[in-house]
Amino acid sequence: MTSSAQQNKSLAGVKDIPSLDRVLKSDGFDPLLAVYGRTQVTVVLRRHLDTLRVSAIAGSLACDAVATDALACAVREQLAATNQPRLKPVYNLTGTVLHTNLGRALLPDEAVSAVVRALTTPANLEFDLGTGGRGDRDDLIESLLCELTGAEAATVVNNNAAAVLLMLNALSNRRETIVSRGELVEIGGAFRIPDVMQRAGARLVEVGTTNRTHAADYENAVGPRTAMLMKVHCSNYAVTGFTKSVSVDEVAGIARRHGLPTAVDLGSGTLVDLSQWGLPEETTVRETVKAGADLVTFSGDKLLGGPQAGLLVGSADLIRKIKKNPLKRALRVGKLTLAALEPVLAMYRAPEFLPQRLTTLRLMTRPQAAMQTQAQTLQRVFQRWLGDQYVAQPAPVFSQIGSGALPEDVLPSYGLRIAYAGPGRAGRHLARLEARLRALPQPVIGRINDDALWLDLRCLEEKDTDAFMAQLGGAPA
Ligand SMILES: *Cc1c(COP(=O)(O)O)cnc(C)c1O
Repeated sequence: MTSSAQQNKSLAGVKDIPSLDRVLKSDGFDPLLAVYGRTQVTVVLRRHLDTLRVSAIAGSLACDAVATDALACAVREQLAATNQPRLKPVYNLTGTVLHTNLGRALLPDEAVSAVVRALTTPANLEFDLGTGGRGDRDDLIESLLCELTGAEAATVVNNNAAAVLLMLNALSNRRETIVSRGELVEIGGAFRIPDVMQRAGARLVEVGTTNRTHAADYENAVGPRTAMLMKVHCSNYAVTGFTKSVSVDEVAGIARRHGLPTAVDLGSGTLVDLSQWGLPEETTVRETVKAGADLVTFSGDKLLGGPQAGLLVGSADLIRKIKKNPLKRALRVGKLTLAALEPVLAMYRAPEFLPQRLTTLRLMTRPQAAMQTQAQTLQRVFQRWLGDQYVAQPAPVFSQIGSGALPEDVLPSYGLRIAYAGPGRAGRHLARLEARLRALPQPVIGRINDDALWLDLRCLEEKDTDAFMAQLGGAPA
């Protein structure tokens, strides 16, 4: 036995554990105090010394553990672990571009720098630079929204759920709103149209059936307590087969004859015709306004590609009424949102550049060949990282737009299909692999389908591929 091995084996007693004060004064702790401050270093060190004391009493404390270097090392590790940000960047290889659980739309650089500017300098958030008097934060984006949608007026709140709640409370409190049974949707995350209506104080009058609603159904439901007629976009499901629904312009026609407004919750409202880039067709906000909707609500972080927000556009008198409702103050957006929203909306003035400039659209329009090339490059690196119990193969997949933009798989993409080739049940091993990918420094999120783990490369842009491969560079853990 060497002397150092002998020393490793020797045990320390309680009296060998140095005092907290002495440890804090030792050189090894200076850098920790400089980074983390005295309070938390003291708390972590005290806890650590307590556990050492327990080991010493049990007769299992090694001498090395009480050396200052060892103490500093243990405390540094714990501090680093507790100070790790909980909100972490991940790789979204789920194939869902607008993934609600992964933060939906990614913002373009222009929006990011506007947010940084707004956070680090005072700005005219509610200050009229013309008069020097108080301004309205909505003014920052209202004219832009009107220009892009053809509406008379606009306002913005925290998200589209808030927009719907506010609109219903402002216009239909203790009065009736007529909605087709085919549009009483649940969006997910506990957003159900009937529940929101109830909370808003609006009385829901359901008309038609799940699959068929006719103009006469709306017409017959109008009564003295009717406040408005409302249509809701069936974001995350499709009613097919023997179906009939009433268009916005027909509903608006009926409403107008009775002197009532029509509201449309467009959900993932888009400002441009997406079919020009080979994407599925979606009715735009402008078309909905033109069809006669007096109010249209939509999300900022779905197809629009901006920050989380709920946008309301429509007639000047209804928007005025909505803005006067006290809930507006409770649901208003902060300056971060407005700072990010303005440059994103401004991009829509030059629609031909959107596929390059707007991150979400760039991802949605990436050609399949780009992902195929990436899949071939990544395959070898991945196979090495996986070991021989798994087989990674480039394979075509279909990405989804997500966030209820369209329920079906629509975008031809490419990715890696990883199958389990070892002994035992594949399901358990694929789940284990999924967990291993989630435990990487920048977690990789894929999806399990058809007895394989799929990594869709649509949302891994070329500029990020090297960093992605770098974290797989080492041997498997
Ligand atoms: C997504 C969606 C909502 C909720 O919008 P958030 O911005 O997530 O609050 C409401 N209605 C419809 C139809 C939707 O698709």
